[in-house]
Amino acid sequence: MSFDTVKKYQKNVIKLLDSSFKKNRLVHTYLFVGSKGSLKKEAALYLASLLLCETNEACGECKACKQIRKGTNPNVFLIAPETESIKKEQILTLEHEFSMTSSSKRIFIIEHIDKATIAGVNSLLKFLEDANENCYGILLTENINAVIPTIRSRSQIVNFLPISRNNILDALWTRGIPGELSQVISTLTNDLDEALELAANEVMLRIIELVKSVGMSIEEEEQDPYLVYLTQSKFLTEAANKEYYIHFLNIFISLQHDKMKWLLYQKEDIVFEELLEQNQIQLTMAQEIQILEIILSFKAKIGYSINMELSIQAMMIEIVRCANG
Ligand SMILES: [Zn+2]
Repeated sequence: MSFDTVKKYQKNVIKLLDSSFKKNRLVHTYLFVGSKGSLKKEAALYLASLLLCETNEACGECKACKQIRKGTNPNVFLIAPETESIKKEQILTLEHEFSMTSSSKRIFIIEHIDKATIAGVNSLLKFLEDANENCYGILLTENINAVIPTIRSRSQIVNFLPISRNNILDALWTRGIPGELSQVISTLTNDLDEALELAANEVMLRIIELVKSVGMSIEEEEQDPYLVYLTQSKFLTEAANKEYYIHFLNIFISLQHDKMKWLLYQKEDIVFEELLEQNQIQLTMAQEIQILEIILSFKAKIGYSINMELSIQAMMIEIVRCANG
């Protein structure tokens, strides 16, 4: 892990940390707030590097920085929820570590601070009060409303913007991920790690191909979209992975949005540009909208569905009815 990614995609946060550090105005407790995948932990490690780097520049190269990157720096403590919550014992262990005399600056990073138990939070608060000035705490959360007010009021809150779709696209392109795959993935997540995982998963390519076949068969009278789905979706049934069905629906939704934009000659931000250039849209705008509504309504229900496969098949039958009507 290098700090390049967080420097590139969370410029304002890095700027704030850099300037506070240079002006000697860092506070002792930070609360980093942002959605999943907004690089909060990377920024926390960056701040730890600023504080401990031998060159004072979070160089990433000196011994301290390298240790931080590997997670082996003795002055950086990382706490994440054990199973569901952060327990009092975890905070006590932290206190114990910090009570050992050391002249060095020490940083503790607590992920999902909103999941700390009341007992955990209370001992953390007490610990923050007693901590000496070489001690820095960085608390991370995806949901500030779930963080208890006393923690909020004692921390400097730093807000992280979600990584934009363009930044996700940029990061995928930089890594050589093909255009269409990058485009699709950038509509599915704004979590950079998740985007990279999806890009490396070969099933995603098959899901995209399935959506393209089904989506274009709707436009052709001589094809039966229901049959197209059945013959090409065996891998979905075999994988029996709920996530894959949800990706299928979300990508299908993207394609419907694309078709509608195409019919309106709004050709910016089209995900399936090549596909729509090579194929004709035969249905009317009203039908495309209706199909989109069918997919959205199944997507809303699918969380409760016991049998995903049957639900999707039922959806396909409704879509065929709409396309023929
Ligand atoms: Zn360094």
